[in-house]
Amino acid sequence: MAEQETSGLQVLLSTLQSSSDRETILNILQVLTELLSVGTDRRIHYMISKGGSEALLQTLVDSARTASPDYNILLPLLRLLVKVGQRDKKFGQKALELEALDVTLILARKNLSHKQTLIHCLWVLQVFASRVTIAAMLGINGAMELLFKVITPYSRKHTRIIRAAMEVLAVLLKSKSNSRRAVNRGYLNGLLRLHQDWQSHDTSNDFIQLRRSLLLCLKHITNIQSGRDAFLGAQGMEILFATTQNYLGNQSMDPIISIVIQILRKCYPKCSLPLATASSYYFFSVPGDISSGPPCTINEDDFEEDAEEEEDKDSDSEETKEEDDDLETDLKKLTSKPLVHWTEEELNQYEAMCLELSYNFQELESKSGEEMSSEEDLGIHQCTYFCHIPIQTSSKRHCQERDRRPQELETSGINSQDPPLKQIKIMNSTGNLSYEETPGKLGSCLSSNNQEEDYSRREAPNTHASFIEPPWGAEMYSCPNKNAFLSSSIMIDETSETVSKFLERHPMDIPFHNPYIYIAKAEGTKSVPGFKVLAFPDVWGHHSPPFAQSLLERKCGIQRAKIVEDVQRFIQPDKVIGRVVFSLDEPWFLECTDASECLRFFSGFESGNLRKAIQVRQFEYDLLINADVNCAQHQQWFYFKVSGMKAAMPYRFNVINCEKVNSQFNYGMQPTMYSVKEALQGRPHWVRVGYDICYYKNNYRQNSAAAGAPGKCHYTLTFSITFPHNEDVCYLAYHYPYTYTALMAHLDLLEKSVNHKKIYFHHQVLCKTLGGNPCPLVTITAMPKSNSSDHVQQLRQRPYHVIVARVHPGESNSSWVMKGTLEFLISRDPIAELLRENFIFKIIPMLNPDGVINGNHRCSLRGEDLNRQWLSPSAQHQPTIYHTKGLLHYLNNIGRTPVVFCDFHGHSQKKNVFFYGCSIKETLWQAGCPVDPSIVSEDVGYRTLPKILDKVAPAFAISSCSFLVEKSRASTARVVVWREIGVLRSYTMESSYCGCNQGPYKDLQLGTRELEEMGATFCLGLFLLQLKSLTCSSEFMAKASALLDSREDIQHQLQRSSSGSSIDVELDDEPPCMEEIDYSTDCSSDQETDVYELDQQIQEMTLAEARGDGEEKNGVDNRSLSSPEFYVSKHLTNKYRTSP
Ligand SMILES: [Zn+2]
Repeated sequence: MAEQETSGLQVLLSTLQSSSDRETILNILQVLTELLSVGTDRRIHYMISKGGSEALLQTLVDSARTASPDYNILLPLLRLLVKVGQRDKKFGQKALELEALDVTLILARKNLSHKQTLIHCLWVLQVFASRVTIAAMLGINGAMELLFKVITPYSRKHTRIIRAAMEVLAVLLKSKSNSRRAVNRGYLNGLLRLHQDWQSHDTSNDFIQLRRSLLLCLKHITNIQSGRDAFLGAQGMEILFATTQNYLGNQSMDPIISIVIQILRKCYPKCSLPLATASSYYFFSVPGDISSGPPCTINEDDFEEDAEEEEDKDSDSEETKEEDDDLETDLKKLTSKPLVHWTEEELNQYEAMCLELSYNFQELESKSGEEMSSEEDLGIHQCTYFCHIPIQTSSKRHCQERDRRPQELETSGINSQDPPLKQIKIMNSTGNLSYEETPGKLGSCLSSNNQEEDYSRREAPNTHASFIEPPWGAEMYSCPNKNAFLSSSIMIDETSETVSKFLERHPMDIPFHNPYIYIAKAEGTKSVPGFKVLAFPDVWGHHSPPFAQSLLERKCGIQRAKIVEDVQRFIQPDKVIGRVVFSLDEPWFLECTDASECLRFFSGFESGNLRKAIQVRQFEYDLLINADVNCAQHQQWFYFKVSGMKAAMPYRFNVINCEKVNSQFNYGMQPTMYSVKEALQGRPHWVRVGYDICYYKNNYRQNSAAAGAPGKCHYTLTFSITFPHNEDVCYLAYHYPYTYTALMAHLDLLEKSVNHKKIYFHHQVLCKTLGGNPCPLVTITAMPKSNSSDHVQQLRQRPYHVIVARVHPGESNSSWVMKGTLEFLISRDPIAELLRENFIFKIIPMLNPDGVINGNHRCSLRGEDLNRQWLSPSAQHQPTIYHTKGLLHYLNNIGRTPVVFCDFHGHSQKKNVFFYGCSIKETLWQAGCPVDPSIVSEDVGYRTLPKILDKVAPAFAISSCSFLVEKSRASTARVVVWREIGVLRSYTMESSYCGCNQGPYKDLQLGTRELEEMGATFCLGLFLLQLKSLTCSSEFMAKASALLDSREDIQHQLQRSSSGSSIDVELDDEPPCMEEIDYSTDCSSDQETDVYELDQQIQEMTLAEARGDGEEKNGVDNRSLSSPEFYVSKHLTNKYRTSP
């Protein structure tokens, strides 16, 4: 702004304040009006900075307090005040100090019949009241009484005034003290009546804005408990519900419906969950723990506070610091290495877990070379059956290919028609290859070098603890009451026999899966409830479907429709069945149920966790999932069986006790389903299913008596499913299940499949869990070429990589990634061979077996998040963490600190696969701490692996990675291993439960195939990392280069320009949800009025005056006449817009 203008403005303002000459004031006002009517907001802000607000307010007070105010001055002055005040954050406060509040109120009272002046006063009052403290002040001074007089009783005269008054009232009611006053004076009833009047008279919807403001008044009053009580008492639910019935599906009524829905949700009476206790149905008595109470802590953030007692506070006065608060800012802490708690002696016990360092391999021949190559001679060297490093540039194309060849396996060198175990046989046998055809008898061809065991023919001993639930048996369909609940009635001895029969009729080919081994392994799995039944999908196996599944497109207004259905339960209780059809707590309910009228549920199997099912309507069920064992929270994971369905009917399921505040279910994710009938027809797939999916806060609160934690909120995940078959048996899960037994069976098959002359595959027990389950530790490397000391020495010199997974039991995706890693590492892929020859892999594939077995989402049997126990784990309470950390310390102690440590997880809030790593510099920088390069020097090597993966792994996104060290993560594996063990490349690898929003898999959900591929590609990443590292030997370099030259697929990916994603680009977790999930508080995102809407109103008024049509000649808001769509587009905030 030019200098002259500056001084000119100041002169104008000071003249305005000091002058009492009418003409001078009028002139200055006109100049100011013209000055501010052009240009940008910058002018107004400049004027504010020069005391413009004060000058105008002072002029107002002076002019209004005269005996006969001059309205020729006041009107333009008030308009200027609105314009400036809207942009001045301290405007209300300034007005209060200059006593302009009172003056304006008095002016309004005096002009109740002088509409022109009144509306100007109302506008200014609205601007004043935008700060809650000022709104409260206005309330004390009787502003609400004044406004109420203007808006009641119903009248179609002077609608512009009524609208303005309602808008002020809505703003005033944001103050809780004002709301209380309104309730006490019975305004709520008046407002409801007024709503009904407008509702019935405004049939052509000409006054949407006005009616919306009226609803906003109700919305704000019902923010307080007494408001909600009064609302319910006045039949508010019924009255507003009727409104939704009239307009649901009418998009132009959105501004009204959205507020109505918010009020209905808020006032829906809170009730406790229909559960006997909030804590888990299962209790585990922890050995050595004296306290019987679960140690589980409840986060205070989880509680909804009804800030009834609170003083009115301005929302911007308490600006909350962002999550940076959580960043570690203490350089000493970041760089210090805590003392090791293990004594030398204690550490030495881990020597037994690194036998590869002491074993002498005497059984190997001393000669090196030729004899080793028997398989190569047979021409199956090229077989890459086990690995699928992502091939080709576009996996989309790949997906289409999968569409075309549904059942074909991606093999080269092996006939995919062969039964898988024959293939395994081919792979593993070294000297005595057998090609006999044994279709349908999977077990019989399974033999390993030292163990001749035929699982299919094995007699099931009487003490057989596990058996398959035979849900597929026809007899089960005809007599459903004999369902698998009564485990004693199940044919114990026929388990394997049944499987054999089924396999004969329905041969299947799932790599690295064998039902007999699964059944055998299940015997050793110890659960807290003592599960006696095996879920069909776990036994039969899952094969990734031959198609990739897109993210589900969210239907517009679906959440609204679901909420209206929920509210209907309250309005019309007689239409609710409310029948308990399944309950762990009250198993007798089952007996009373007429099974033909409802679905049957069951979850008494490994990882199953349904606690209760209630039939709400004929095709709708409320489901409650069990809390983590010894805990009263963490409900998110679910896995249960459902049967007795009718085909082609839409069933709605509501999981009503979820806990997370948001979920990828709002952003395209679907739950997974496995149909037994489909499986027996040759499609043994877990697939993503469900539509009309949304996730929102519901009206259930934690039972205060049970948990000692009243008011904790719950969320509903709702989805609808149309089942493919009549009377099918289907399994539904949060995500692709992967049980502990599946892991044990998988490790067994892996071990049997490897060529032990070439691959050192050692499966041992890290420790036993609290529940008595062995936690496996796997070591993979290449056997030495011979037992010569040179070769043995070469093995002992190999650096270590340590990979762990599934510390969080609900994150089954991490197990699928791990499965891919394991299968790749033992594969014949030359890259895997080279990796084995150069590294020793220490893998703990499941850090929390107990949690997985018992259907937990987050915790161990002590109700603890094991990934918050790494700082000081105890051997007694967190054995798996204690011994993993001990092993790492041991490696560190003998000078063999791992090159890479990676902990596989699943992420419920973000898309893609990405890393969390640790960087001092990035942490300090992000926290705003000065980074002195002379003090803080950091190896940026932590970035290399994620950069590589960004290029070669289709699901991986470096833009989602973070390398910050947060205080809240100080006790996680990643941070502790980085800080205490000194592993520079210490990572958490997060895989989305949902899918990808970038790269070749953009807009696809992740399936098990993609997850396994990620696990394999992770190994490729380790290979390329070595190639780039300074310690890379010339031999490795030469071999690797030759190898890469022959692999065009990888070459191509490495050259792929990194999709524009750079590490500096931080993606938001998700854009704001289209429909709000929470509704209890007025969140700041909840924009009710456009900021400068008053400008618009003033302009329209001025235009109307200029046209000379005065006030609403025809009684209609002229705005809605001139552009009927205006309201819709203007007031649809992003939340309510449909996706583009
Ligand atoms: Zn996790």
